Amino acid sequence: MPRYEYRCRSCGDTFELSRPMAESSAPAACPAGHDDTVKLLSTVAVGGSASASAPAPSSGGGGGCCGGGCCG
Ligand SMILES: [Zn+2]
Repeated sequence: MPRYEYRCRSCGDTFELSRPMAESSAPAACPAGHDDTVKLLSTVAVGGSASASAPAPSSGGGGGCCGGGCCG
């Protein structure tokens, strides 16, 4: 069962609850009994370093057209 983290806006406490995913957004009372809580982002670790540095395709030749058949 997934764990969700909540924060109480009344006392500022944070707490975790294990509850079905279907109830992840249901109100959760803090351990002190307050029900003014908000659900925090999941603490599940999602991959952090996605390097999107693909090498640009180099434009092949040396720039001259001779040899390519266009100067002929
Ligand atoms: Zn509270």
